[in-house]
Amino acid sequence: AKQEGRNNYQWFTNDLNQRVGERVVLRNELQKAIENQDFTLYYQPQVDGRSGRVVGLEALLRWEHPSRGFISPALFVPIAEDTGQIIPLSQWVLDTACRQIKELCEQGMTGPSVAVNISPVHFQRSNFVAGISAMLSKHGLDAELLELEITETVLLNNAERAIDTLHQLKRLGVKIAIDDFGTGFSSLNYLKRLPIDKVKIDRTFVQEIISDLHDAAITQGIISMAHHLRLKVIAEGVETEPQFAFLKKSHCDEFQGYYFAKPMPFAELQDFLRARMLT
Ligand code: C2E
Ligand code: CA
Ligand code: CA
Ligand code: CA
Repeated sequence: AKQEGRNNYQWFTNDLNQRVGERVVLRNELQKAIENQDFTLYYQPQVDGRSGRVVGLEALLRWEHPSRGFISPALFVPIAEDTGQIIPLSQWVLDTACRQIKELCEQGMTGPSVAVNISPVHFQRSNFVAGISAMLSKHGLDAELLELEITETVLLNNAERAIDTLHQLKRLGVKIAIDDFGTGFSSLNYLKRLPIDKVKIDRTFVQEIISDLHDAAITQGIISMAHHLRLKVIAEGVETEPQFAFLKKSHCDEFQGYYFAKPMPFAELQDFLRARMLT
């Protein structure tokens, strides 16, 4: 399913030579885009199942290419990781997300925190925690309003060091969620040692929970295990009412997906939140 998702681009091809060529082109264009700041953040609401309130916003990076239109992060983030361009890009994302969530607070739309996707390449940098801390100070943002979404892959090279980094982040007061949970190698053994707040059930499970008994069982297993470890559970990619109903019945805490709202630009988000506050 991951592979399918990545093939959704007209100009993306399976021909290896062409693909390598495209990567070189993209890499150069990415450099220009970073210099010109041709990026924008979209935000997707995360809804609490009990109160129905928007408790979080996932920041999703968008590259608006002058001629190709929107290019998916699923395509350019891996390239930026290979080239190291992910570092300035990631800094831009954090800076923008912190500034905009602060702006929401100042407009009286307090409540939702912002969740930022963190590449393992960035996470493993020695100055990562200092960078996060500096960003919070720069914007005068409460640490608990920032959530970092990391994947199990941060544990791959040096798990002890990654766990130490997580403890430092925890001391700063930022929240940590494990993204794409269930898709990686099994780190169930580590999970109990990780100072995290939340696990995020991957969309590939959510997609099949109504039609596939195994995915339903795995999802319920993840929720019950996470709750035993006192972690919150959020489901991503919730598209239909039956999926929502099943997850809610299974005691999932929070929900994100097209069923509730698509990712949207900041201006639209402000209208969305304002409208919800009035009801
Ligand atoms: P992800 O972190 O798993 O993000 C969820 C993806 O699912 C997003 O795709 C989102 O738009 C999409 N989505 C949300 N709800 C639904 C739904 O109901 N149905 C379906 N079919 N899709 C839904 P997007 O925005 O294209 O991002 C793709 C991936 O790119 C993200 O996967 C994340 O891994 C990466 N990414 C996005 N922004 C950033 C960023 O700022 N930094 C880094 N390092 N990676 C990012
Ligand atoms: Ca994510
Ligand atoms: Ca995912
Ligand atoms: Ca992901």
